[in-house]
Amino acid sequence: MAKYKLEYIWLDGYQPVRNLRSKTQLKDFASFPKLEELPDWGFDGSSTQQAPGGSSDCVLKPVAVYPDSSRKNGVLVMCEVYNADGTPHSSNDRATILDDPDAWFGFEQEYFLYQDGRPLGFPENGYPAPQGPYYTGVGYKNVGDIARQIVEEHLDLCLDAGINHEGINAEVAKGQWEFQIFGKGSKTAADQVWVARYLLNRLCEKYCVDVEYHCKPLGATDWNGSGMHANFSTKYLRETGGEPYFLALMAQFEKNCMEHIAVYGPDNHMRLTGLHETQSIDKFSWGIADRGASIRVPHSFKKNGWKGYLEDRRPNSQGNPYQIASRILKTISEVPKP
Ligand code: ADP
Ligand code: MN
Ligand code: MN
Ligand code: MN
Ligand code: MN
Repeated sequence: MAKYKLEYIWLDGYQPVRNLRSKTQLKDFASFPKLEELPDWGFDGSSTQQAPGGSSDCVLKPVAVYPDSSRKNGVLVMCEVYNADGTPHSSNDRATILDDPDAWFGFEQEYFLYQDGRPLGFPENGYPAPQGPYYTGVGYKNVGDIARQIVEEHLDLCLDAGINHEGINAEVAKGQWEFQIFGKGSKTAADQVWVARYLLNRLCEKYCVDVEYHCKPLGATDWNGSGMHANFSTKYLRETGGEPYFLALMAQFEKNCMEHIAVYGPDNHMRLTGLHETQSIDKFSWGIADRGASIRVPHSFKKNGWKGYLEDRRPNSQGNPYQIASRILKTISEVPKP
C-alpha cells in the first residue's frame, strides 16, 4: 500500500472563460489507481460560481486519470461536475459532447508566456524587434532565457502523464508558443488539452510566469494573436466522405456560423479580422489549403476523394475544447449521410 496524492481537477462556473480548479485527496492504493477505483468527491460550489451559499455542495466525478511525475505518487484526476441529484451541473460542458469513440480531434494550442505584465522577452518599455525571426526561432535574442526551459519541462510532464502531444513550436510573436494534442474519441483530446493547460499553469508558478491564453493580448497591434485550430474527423469523413456529403457539411457549418463563434472563445473579433491568415468573424468560408478560410481543407482531403480530416481555424486560444468539440459534433450530427 502507498498513499497516492490524487489531484482532482475541474472547471469552475466562471464565464466566458472557465478557470481550472484542483485540490488534493490522499488515499491508499496497492498500485497506481484505475479510474473506476477513484471515488466521487465534493467541493464548495459557492466559491467557484457553481452554487448559491445556502446549498453549496457540488459533486466531482472522475472521468480520466493520468500519472503526475512532478509529485511522488502523484495522480491527476480530471473530473466532471455534477449536482447533488446526479444531473450534470450547468457548467459541465464535457457532458454535452456526443459520445463517439471514432471521432478524432487535434487541437493546436497557442499561448503567450507573461511576466511582469508583458510577454517573456519583451523589454520593460516598448517592443522588441518586429515579428519575423521568432516563429520556430532559436537563440537567446529570439526565444530569451527561460521560455524554452518551461516549454521543454512542460512537454516532459505531459508525456509522463500519457498526454498525446504531436508537436511543439515557437510561434510568430516573441514569447508565444504552441503545442498540438491529438486524440481518438470525442472527449480524449479535449480532456488532454485541459490537463496540459493545468500542468503548464502549475509549472509556470515556480518561474513567476503566467500563461496568457487571451487571443489578442497585445491588442490591435501587428503582434500575432493566439488561436486553437481544431482539426476533426469522424469515421464517415475518414472512410466514406465524398463531395456531396462534404458540401452539405459545409452548408451546415455556414448555417450555424454564429453558434460556432459563440463557443470559439471570447474577444475573437479582435483576432478574426480577415487579416493574418484568418477569415472575418461573421463570414464562413472553406478552402483547399487556404489559411484565410474558416475551414481549411487539406490537399490530401480532396485528392483522396473528399475524405479525411478538416481544420476549423476559428477557435481561439482561450476557447474551451469541450464546448468546441461538442459544437462541431452537433453540427456534423445534423447532416444526413447520403
Ligand atoms: P498546421 O499548423 O499546419 O495547421 P499542425 O501540425 O500544427 O498543422 O496540426 C495539424 C493537426 O491535425 C494535428 O494536431 C493532428 O493531430 C491533426 N490531425 C491529423 N489527422 C487528423 C485526423 N484524421 N482527424 C483529426 N485530426 C487530425
Ligand atoms: Mn476543507
Ligand atoms: Mn500548427
Ligand atoms: Mn500555430
Ligand atoms: Mn493549424
